[in-house]
Amino acid sequence: MSECLFCKIIAGEIPSDKIYEDEQVLVFNDINPKADVHLLMVPKKHIVSLNEVGTEDDPLMAHMLRLLPEIAKNQGLKDGFRTIINTGQGGGQIIFHLHIHLLGGSKLPGFD
Ligand code: AMP
Repeated sequence: MSECLFCKIIAGEIPSDKIYEDEQVLVFNDINPKADVHLLMVPKKHIVSLNEVGTEDDPLMAHMLRLLPEIAKNQGLKDGFRTIINTGQGGGQIIFHLHIHLLGGSKLPGFD
């Protein structure tokens, strides 16, 4: 059995506050939100980080990027949103399963 937290969430072994799901990705609310809206988009395929993305993942990566604006709009983020991908220890990554943070609303942290 996988020891990866996000794999367990994808498998339904650990509950999440699900926003969207299709055959390739799961989107759920971050458990410790840093903004009014703070979602995590994770691929169902276990990829450790951006460092481990291969050319075979190009369609998946394109799918994820193209989905983000649609999900942001559905969350009411009409004026825009911020995405963050922490990569590796030096990039502040804590969960080693690739994920895209989607943030929006009035209290956006950092990078003003
Ligand atoms: P990162 O630093 O990019 O690896 O961020 C990991 C994110 O996962 C953090 O924002 C955490 O708050 C979030 N997180 C950790 N555990 C859970 C969980 N069980 N459900 C939802 N989000 C989580």
